[in-house]
Amino acid sequence: MARLGFHSALMSKDASATRMEKIVSLCKRRGFIFQSSEIYGGLNGFWDYGPLGVELKKNLKDFWWRRNVRERDDMEGMDGSIIMNRAVWKASGHEETFSDPMVDCKVCNSRNRADQLPEKDGKKYCPQCGSRDLTEARDFNLMFKSHAGPLESEDNLVYLRPETAQAIFVNFRNVLDTSRQKLPFGIAQIGKAFRNEINPRNYIFRSREFEQMEIEYFCRPEDGMQLTDYWLEQRIKFYEDIGIPRSKIHINDIPDGERAFYSKKTYDLEYEFPFGVSELEGIAYRTDYDLGKHIEHSGKPLDYFDEATKERFIPHVVEPSAGVDRTTLALLCEAFDEETVTDEKGNSETRTVLRFHPRMAPIKCGIFPLLKNKPALVEKAKEIATALRPIMNVFYDEAGAIGRRYRRQDEAGTPFCVTIDFDTIGENGPEKENTVTLRHRDSMTQERIAISDLKNYLLEKIG
Ligand code: ATP
Repeated sequence: MARLGFHSALMSKDASATRMEKIVSLCKRRGFIFQSSEIYGGLNGFWDYGPLGVELKKNLKDFWWRRNVRERDDMEGMDGSIIMNRAVWKASGHEETFSDPMVDCKVCNSRNRADQLPEKDGKKYCPQCGSRDLTEARDFNLMFKSHAGPLESEDNLVYLRPETAQAIFVNFRNVLDTSRQKLPFGIAQIGKAFRNEINPRNYIFRSREFEQMEIEYFCRPEDGMQLTDYWLEQRIKFYEDIGIPRSKIHINDIPDGERAFYSKKTYDLEYEFPFGVSELEGIAYRTDYDLGKHIEHSGKPLDYFDEATKERFIPHVVEPSAGVDRTTLALLCEAFDEETVTDEKGNSETRTVLRFHPRMAPIKCGIFPLLKNKPALVEKAKEIATALRPIMNVFYDEAGAIGRRYRRQDEAGTPFCVTIDFDTIGENGPEKENTVTLRHRDSMTQERIAISDLKNYLLEKIG
């Protein structure tokens, strides 16, 4: 684990802090993200996704699943339980070593991660009260504990999983036997993970409950290195396909000595967040460490028999492990834009727009009857909305001036809006009957399109 990924901020500190504040405030105002249990004062490190946020996150997860599972012959999906036998975490080493060094302030009793303490004149100090009277660093295990069953005894101790990966390793045999895959092949999983982070921070970047999208790609030992580079490229392409340009992704090739001892190669993919360049995903060549450990602890045969060469061996594994919440935050940061626009009367105003890739946008198309008190317009608009709803998320809105309705959708990141007007219902002659105005979010340009072409047009853009 590379637990620190902060480099220099790319914008000035003030500009990036302001940008981040604006993103956080937009996310709350428009219903992307709320503080968990907000009415009771919230809970540090926990977040809720609102109506737009859940769509954004779902689009991300669905596209990851499509790209990595459905579009590939060599990948199987699974969904493991969050709570597993404690023995899993003993074998994986998490019970022993999944910890961060923590330091207590002797003056205000606050607790902070040793590697994140601010420093002045070469001496670390407490970020809360400024005192330099700190304890020595001690290891703090990040796994949340609970008990399975009514007894709160050591025998019933269980953990909320801190990563989804272990469910894949312990199911390797089950998936191999039921899917009839041959090496190389992968198992993919999306699910919740929990880490009792000492200092949750940077909004949803580091939280205590989050989701991961993980692949364990099993291979012959001699193919591990080359497949790590293959997955690096696949994963960068994925980010490009969701609207995060390659130029904003930094590849951190973790040097010898800084990688986990069992890893022969690890790349961290980092994104230029407003608060600094920070880790989105790790791609690690983990050799046969995990399967080897589970063989040792469970005594079960998690090895592989190669029919062609008649060899029996423990497969090696390459693990691309991405965070749903961090990628969602990257999507929001990448999409957020403000520009000055001038209306027909010459008044200028700031337009806030989320320039999501149409594939990721929570709402694909806004549907507006020009006037809400004209039944023919309303009826036609509702008809179009009903036809599109089974295949994409649309938003029907009949309230207020058209310009305002466009602006509301700009803030939600809706790439297209259609307006149903008097031309549509044939009041200005048959020429434009059954056509609508299609308005583009990014350029704000408008064009006329036949209702019969709308569905295919939108589907092609959404990809
Ligand atoms: P970091 O160094 O930032 O703590 P890590 O190296 O410990 O991350 P991994 O254990 O490699 O992270 O987990 C894989 C991915 O899971 C990370 O790249 C990140 O996207 C996501 N992730 C890990 N911890 C958190 C967290 N506390 N909040 C949100 N996402 C997380």
